[in-house]
Amino acid sequence: MRKSRIGADDKPMRFEDERFLMCHQCSQCSGVCPSERQGGINPREIVMRYAAGIADPSDGVLWLCTMCHSCAERCQLDVRPAELISMLRQEGAEKGSCPRSFQEEAKLFMRTGLSFPSTGLTKKIRKEMGLPELVQDARTVEDIALIASKTRLGRVRLE
Ligand code: SF4
Ligand code: SF4
Repeated sequence: MRKSRIGADDKPMRFEDERFLMCHQCSQCSGVCPSERQGGINPREIVMRYAAGIADPSDGVLWLCTMCHSCAERCQLDVRPAELISMLRQEGAEKGSCPRSFQEEAKLFMRTGLSFPSTGLTKKIRKEMGLPELVQDARTVEDIALIASKTRLGRVRLE
């Protein structure tokens, strides 16, 4: 298991790490987490594991977070578990543990500028709502691919 630990020799302490250390395990974040309610991720536990040096960036449970940030809003100490989850996901994704469904989404985004395919239903709903037809401009798509390649999204290992 790849260890992610505050103050580990190969990992200089970051500004965010001091925030994660402030967690006093009150569990208020877990109480409002929609994923935890369905047996998914437990934000309090993730913070605890990280501080203890046993957080695993390749743990599939990290991808069960909806990134709603309710945990961050609820935490009175401003620990922001969602940011830690996001950081661990990135670390794992760069080493190849991004789930296939997220990889497909990333590839589609870099190829078309859309995270979800535009289907016949999309077109129908846009028409009903009086919205213009979606036009995928080649230049915009090129720019998106260039921007993605220069951000952390470009570092995600895709199969
Ligand atoms: S992250 Fe905040 S809300 Fe969650 S257990 Fe720690 S102190 Fe409590
Ligand atoms: S951001 Fe993730 S961990 Fe935080 S409350 Fe939402 S689903 Fe739960």
